[in-house]
Amino acid sequence: MPVTRFCRSVAWVDIDWPALRAAAADTAGHAYAPYSRLRVGAAGLTSDGRLVTGCNVENASFGLTLCAECGLVSALHATAPAPPAGAAADPPGLVAVAVVAGDGAPLLPCGRCRQLLLEVGGPALLVDTASGPAPLAELLPAAFGGADLSARRDS
Ligand SMILES: [Zn+2]
Repeated sequence: MPVTRFCRSVAWVDIDWPALRAAAADTAGHAYAPYSRLRVGAAGLTSDGRLVTGCNVENASFGLTLCAECGLVSALHATAPAPPAGAAADPPGLVAVAVVAGDGAPLLPCGRCRQLLLEVGGPALLVDTASGPAPLAELLPAAFGGADLSARRDS
């Protein structure tokens, strides 16, 4: 898969898909998956050029299991540059994400994680699939987002 050039706001970002997928596969090796035995790793490239990763972490209660993308989103925020004093945190978002199983092959994010990724990457976020990168808008059409909250909440 070739490198993709992606324009995010005013900056061009080169997306090295093989490297992104390799980082996801490496991170899958750190997964805690004693119940499903499905190790999953996720790697994301941010608009400011950082690489963030996450792996799935299962729990005996199952409902508390964290997908790899959950760890990735946490790492995105945890590694973001600190906002200026008094400013609200608005970290650089993701531009590309690769999620793989322990065998290194792409694995699509579950529905919950597509929603999580929308919040930090928007509908243009490129997601690695078995047939190549696809915008998140194709994987999560008619998505619910923050604008829906603003438009529909009681005043
Ligand atoms: Zn998930």
